[in-house]
Amino acid sequence: MKHIEEYRNPEISKKIASEIKKRCKKKIRLMEVCGTHTTSIFKNGIRNVLPDKITLISGPGCPVCVTPVNEIDAFIELANIKNVIIATFGDLIRVPGSKSSLQKAGAAGKNIQVVSSPIDAVNLAAENPNKKIIFLGVGFETTAPAIAGSIIFAKETSVKNYFVYSAHKTVPPALSALMADNNTDINGFILPGHVSMVIGVCAYLSFFNNYKIPSVIAGFEPVDLLNAILMLIKQIETNSYKLQNAYERAVSFEGNKKAQELIAKVFYKTDAKWRGIGIIKNSGVKINRQFANFDAEKKFDIKTTDALKEPKGCSCGQILQGIMRPTECPLYKKICNPINPIGPCMVSSEGTCAAYFKYFE
Ligand code: SF4
Repeated sequence: MKHIEEYRNPEISKKIASEIKKRCKKKIRLMEVCGTHTTSIFKNGIRNVLPDKITLISGPGCPVCVTPVNEIDAFIELANIKNVIIATFGDLIRVPGSKSSLQKAGAAGKNIQVVSSPIDAVNLAAENPNKKIIFLGVGFETTAPAIAGSIIFAKETSVKNYFVYSAHKTVPPALSALMADNNTDINGFILPGHVSMVIGVCAYLSFFNNYKIPSVIAGFEPVDLLNAILMLIKQIETNSYKLQNAYERAVSFEGNKKAQELIAKVFYKTDAKWRGIGIIKNSGVKINRQFANFDAEKKFDIKTTDALKEPKGCSCGQILQGIMRPTECPLYKKICNPINPIGPCMVSSEGTCAAYFKYFE
């Protein structure tokens, strides 16, 4: 297939769905680990064409949702510093910390600006030499290269009032953490498309060789997703396990070397806290010594809490681990909704609770 219409073709989708029905004999739980997959699955009605035996569960694939409470608190602390402008992607501003959110900080007079790229934040710094611009680096391997590029650009153009708080997370260690948790009941993984474009198939080898679980990288169109699900069902029903790539038009074995080089140049790997999961070894990146002058954590002495608790009654932790569905949360729809989100999974457009609210029930 060469054209996008083919990946959205209802006839091709129906054919694959019918093959899935024919092949699937036992109860199977598949996890997608990408917020864009979660949204696409709902938007394209993928759940509706699958047999009841297949349960799709959403994992920790929304970067805003996995940003822990204490990091949100740190962002708000930074906003309180005199002459600081916080630059951020829009999804983050409504995520609740332990006491407030960036949106509330903005309403209280702090300078919070939504930007569409980290380069916009560097430009903001160049235009405001008397202010300190702090960009909140939240995301996975997909956003890290652009943020690394912005730091290099700021250095090369002598923009000295641009800083980044790196709260990046990396996906393969999170997959291992999920598998190591005895509460997780997963028969196969639909691996993320965008992240895989950067890191390549090879980045999953260590995880896959350790856990030997069916794993397929998928694209975002209905045919992509159904195809990946069919490949997983074939593996599961034949008791085999493979690491397969169903998104070959975008994902190579080695990934995007240029993007990987940018990440390696600016960041170093470290342990990271994930909302609802806790600390995962080597699952984060921070700014290295060569670029320390751009590191907001080093530049500003902020006192953060160790708060990891979810807002009262919120079950985002269990949702992000795939051990609970949004509809099982007592606050879902009763108190928590996109206008009044209690937890991050209802805030982000890629959050599982927001997707359920919009498309499901
Ligand atoms: S429905 Fe709201 S309160 Fe419940 S888990 Fe989702 S975000 Fe948290």
